[in-house]
Amino acid sequence: MKILPEKPPYGADCNRCGACCIAILCPLGARLFRGTTGPCPALTFSPGRADCGLVLDPARFAPPILLAVAGPRKLAEAAAILIGAGAGCDAAVAGEALDPDARRRIDGIAAARRLVAVEALGLWIGTIPKQG
Ligand code: SF4
Ligand code: SF4
Repeated sequence: MKILPEKPPYGADCNRCGACCIAILCPLGARLFRGTTGPCPALTFSPGRADCGLVLDPARFAPPILLAVAGPRKLAEAAAILIGAGAGCDAAVAGEALDPDARRRIDGIAAARRLVAVEALGLWIGTIPKQG
């Protein structure tokens, strides 16, 4: 049985409850798995926590060509940047108020990472065409 913690408020430290990725895929997951409806195929459960499989074990999910070119460590680091790891809970469930200070802080972290995020995105999906 998967016993996960309850989702914390928006802006709080991420407690790896998995609620975000159970509901909807992040942009990286949506591009890789070609869909937006959760749960994400990369969501990986262990007792008391849910983790992003693209960070935990990218070799399970990366196309072989990306794995050969970038290697699992770089892909894991790139995925962590792209999913906003370390920024706190950036998921708001229906009706949850977005704390403006937390929003500014999270947006600031994303802005500071913009350049490395572009590089990270190129590593993961540079060769994967958009849908449609
Ligand atoms: S970002 Fe929020 S909803 Fe997603 S795993 Fe972390 S705490 Fe849970
Ligand atoms: S790719 Fe990772 S962070 Fe994104 S939805 Fe899937 S499990 Fe969550």
